[in-house]
Amino acid sequence: MEQSQFGEIVAPLLDWYNQNKRCLPWRADKEPYHIWVSEIMLQQTRVEAVIPYYERFMKRLPSILSLADCENEELFKLWEGLGYYSRARNLKKAAQEIRTRYQGVFPKNYDEILKLPGIGAYTAGAISSIAFGEPRAAVDGNVLRVITRLTQDCHDITDTKFRAEITQALERVYPQTGRGDFTQSLMELGAVACVPNGKPKCAECPLAFLCGAYQDSTQSQYPVKKKKTARKIEQKTVLLIKYQDKIAIGKREGKGVLSGMWELPNLDGELTKPQILQWLSEQQFDIKEIQKMKDTGKALKHIFTHIEWHMTCWIVTCESVANENGFTWVTTGQLEKEIALPTAFKKVYQKMQESFSEGAFS
Ligand code: SF4
Repeated sequence: MEQSQFGEIVAPLLDWYNQNKRCLPWRADKEPYHIWVSEIMLQQTRVEAVIPYYERFMKRLPSILSLADCENEELFKLWEGLGYYSRARNLKKAAQEIRTRYQGVFPKNYDEILKLPGIGAYTAGAISSIAFGEPRAAVDGNVLRVITRLTQDCHDITDTKFRAEITQALERVYPQTGRGDFTQSLMELGAVACVPNGKPKCAECPLAFLCGAYQDSTQSQYPVKKKKTARKIEQKTVLLIKYQDKIAIGKREGKGVLSGMWELPNLDGELTKPQILQWLSEQQFDIKEIQKMKDTGKALKHIFTHIEWHMTCWIVTCESVANENGFTWVTTGQLEKEIALPTAFKKVYQKMQESFSEGAFS
């Protein structure tokens, strides 16, 4: 099919959606706050994984104002496990902006929504069409997969111009009623039938009669995606510094990855024992013992969007501590229950704990 035929997908897709849509907690009403939070959580995480996070979040922060007032520590704890903490930070920033600029009421118009921190064209399209019935499309990877298969389009789907072209072509055919449903029907088809991994379920698809890829059996050739540039690899030396029943943690400074989050003390590069001892002495640690974990292979890699950390880990046991050495000292219980330690460090912490008990140190 051609883009000029997009009008033909509306009715069959809406019928299919109304009969087959999944019952999801954020679909219970058209409250923009609910749609917004769910869309932000769903950006990097599967629906099934998001549901418990969403429910816990809404129980604790049921309104925009409660989010605006939430302490970062609690917010990050609610977000722990979802990763990409800048999303949580932006949610709070946007909630504060809604309180200041819009008296706590979510703006109703696409252009105003788009100005809020952390909200791009996709999320603004989703909120404005689902909550306010605007004829705005929300085009993400799921929708682009459906569209490029329908039209057998070889454009690179990471190209923002192509994404904008598809968005406009879809917006031209938005129905008078059920606009939010049309937005969601496209997302839903991409999520449950025109799936990314494995064979699409074309026999269940309401658009099979229009689909070029289905008719030519070329589904696996779409979507076309430009190869990503290789991630930058950064070596890190991570320290689990213990004193009696406590562990040293600090707040990550700067503007880079995980800024403002809790961290285990860590240094750039794969440092040698003398280099680590030098650093520890500069921080005035009184060291009793230092041990390196023997195998810090694959398990201790952590992947961010553009960076990959390869972490070498050491356990440092202190003889004594002077003036807390500039760190915050917490028990393992506090670290596990109260502190939102980002997954990169949590992984290291767990691995070091396990390895320590198994004697896997040199
Ligand atoms: S027919 Fe198959 S390939 Fe085409 S849109 Fe439907 S699920 Fe996707």
